Amino acid sequence: MGGSFADVVLSWYDRCGRKLPFRGTKDPYRIWLSEIMLQQTRTEQMSEYYGRFLSRFPSVEALAEASEGEVLKYWEGLGYYSRARNLLKAARCVVNDHGGRFPADAALLRSLPGVGPYTTAAVASIAFSLPEPAIDGNLTRVLSRARGIREDVSLPSVKRQLEQTARELISRERPGDFNQALMDLGAGICVPGTPDCASCPLMPQCSAYKEGDQEALPVQPRKVPPRPVHLNVLLIFSEGRVYMKAREEALLKGMYVYCLSEKAPSAVLRGLRVEGAAAPAGQARHVFTHRVWEMKLYTCMASAVPAKLKPHFYTRTEMNALPVPAAMRAAKALAEQILLEGGNA
Ligand code: SF4
Repeated sequence: MGGSFADVVLSWYDRCGRKLPFRGTKDPYRIWLSEIMLQQTRTEQMSEYYGRFLSRFPSVEALAEASEGEVLKYWEGLGYYSRARNLLKAARCVVNDHGGRFPADAALLRSLPGVGPYTTAAVASIAFSLPEPAIDGNLTRVLSRARGIREDVSLPSVKRQLEQTARELISRERPGDFNQALMDLGAGICVPGTPDCASCPLMPQCSAYKEGDQEALPVQPRKVPPRPVHLNVLLIFSEGRVYMKAREEALLKGMYVYCLSEKAPSAVLRGLRVEGAAAPAGQARHVFTHRVWEMKLYTCMASAVPAKLKPHFYTRTEMNALPVPAAMRAAKALAEQILLEGGNA
């Protein structure tokens, strides 16, 4: 009833697809940027960043010429900062290795830094009309329900089965719209938990609807809760400035943070040869995918700091120009307040 799977989703897409600010373009640069931004980010939040990012970096060439610090600054607040670092590497790769043009080839797209199978398929299908299914959480949910895939979707064999199903179903004429239609169905109708089957064009042919087990699909592996990490966050002030350093660890690499340590604040101060005492200043918490930072905040008004540390002290204005991760939101608000109270710009 109602035509093939692709026909049904495409005619629904033509009537009900979302009109999003990053849609309606065939420009691979814009499509790639929007897909990278959309990973782990809500559409509404992403749209705002997307506009700002594009007005500063309107082309892949403009992005390739930027510094990592500036790109991170434009990414600030979006999280998962390795995306921003890879974005810059990939832009340079497109400019240096592909003459400034995104390759119209799935394998070459896939070889760009930070471009996984999903982004490859999204760019290949939307920009170049290649029949590559863009398999993300939305597509997995819609397909596993519609086609009755009732095994753990994290298993490699089930992933292969999903991909094969998607390859069989994808429209050869409009693969980009097909992918976007399934993204929209997954985002608005075939949602996690209880889907709105009554509004779904796939209802007459949906296996989960027939069986009544929509809420049990897709079958997911058991979630491991994020591991707590207890950290002391020490804000050291000296001469109207606060101490910050770019992280070298993989998590939040290149982002500026205050002194983070599992050691006691007094030991941290001794290690840095800073003179002064640390005072407790509240708590904060930040949840990452695999860990949660349970933070205790401390402040220290230093009476003396070694000369070699001085370049790492920033005024309030300088601090606000640095890329600072959302995990430091409470600490940064505290630093701002203290710097302002001290009458420092
Ligand atoms: S009928 Fe319901 S379960 Fe099936 S694809 Fe549509 S919204 Fe999802």
